[in-house]
Amino acid sequence: MKAIRVEQFGDPGVLRLVDVPTPKPGPWQVLVRLRAAGVNPVETYIRSGNYARKPELPYTPGSDGAGMVEAVGEGVTGCKPGDRVYTAGTISGSYAEFALCLPAQIHPLPERVSFAQGAALGVPYATAWRALFQRGQAVPGESVLIHGASGGVGMAAVQMARAHGMQVWGTAGTERGRLLVLEQGAHRVFDHGARQYQEQIAQAAGKHGVDVILEMMANKNLGFDLTLLALGGRVVVIGSRGDVEINPRDAMSRDADIRGMVLFNTPPAELAEIHAQLFAGLENGSLCPVIAEEFPLARAPYAHGAIMDPGAAGKIVLVS
Ligand code: NAP
Repeated sequence: MKAIRVEQFGDPGVLRLVDVPTPKPGPWQVLVRLRAAGVNPVETYIRSGNYARKPELPYTPGSDGAGMVEAVGEGVTGCKPGDRVYTAGTISGSYAEFALCLPAQIHPLPERVSFAQGAALGVPYATAWRALFQRGQAVPGESVLIHGASGGVGMAAVQMARAHGMQVWGTAGTERGRLLVLEQGAHRVFDHGARQYQEQIAQAAGKHGVDVILEMMANKNLGFDLTLLALGGRVVVIGSRGDVEINPRDAMSRDADIRGMVLFNTPPAELAEIHAQLFAGLENGSLCPVIAEEFPLARAPYAHGAIMDPGAAGKIVLVS
């Protein structure tokens, strides 16, 4: 099969398309013929060698993908060859034509959802669900600001918050991104690149403030987020690329919480709950991933550059 292999950590050029043997499923393993693989920022951090969790070299990147079950190993009962599935984790990596998975890493993909859309679920949608409901504890009627709503995680969160009766605000850095954020259900959108956007959000938040903030770039925004929160408000830190200075009094005076999260820490029972909720939302159409761009597997190096560029407009996927 064709697969991307990383022989040494480094810049995107280390992502090479090679021929490798197609894996065979052992007991309690499932082989999936992937049609699409999701590209996530974390895969660029890992590839660079600067991330705390490092795989053994050589490795095939990627946890997210979608396709059809090709074969199942001894003992597997929950799926059969031909089933449409998406992956949320793999044993062998998803930037490939086939991926070996554990049964708990694959989930059914409703007919109405394309393989490219299925590849947008594993990390982004699960992260958005965990951030909004399990960590942020957002409830219908509350206001939610999604700081960085134009990317994979943010757009998923917009759809979820809107479907659950929340007042939804998002930010994006481009006109295209802002339009998409509105189309996906945000009531208001702000330009996080504009000089006075903080004043605009603060004015819109008024005296009550914002109940929940989902933060994709905490190193830039956390200090400001704390000044926006309502009494008892929560900011969930999903993404951060550096240090930030905050005034703790802004949290004290609001009885506010800063709640960090990393998807890898999710206990298995809560992860199972997330994927059951995602299936329901995909089936009823309230969740519908937006694909920004599709690239062939061979263009993985380009895709790794694109995911880190400003101007997100949904999800970047590799197709095979
Ligand atoms: P993505 O698709 O590349 O989107 C990045 C988002 O960040 C875009 O909406 C982008 O907006 C926005 N952004 C850029 N500058 C910003 C600023 N100054 N303020 C607010 N937002 C800004 O990435 P993603 O997959 O959605 O992931 C988002 C972040 O969460 C990444 O840092 C990623 O590493 C992290 N993440 C963490 C977890 C976890 O478990 N904690 C899981 C998944 C992702 P424009 O491009 O429109 O400017």
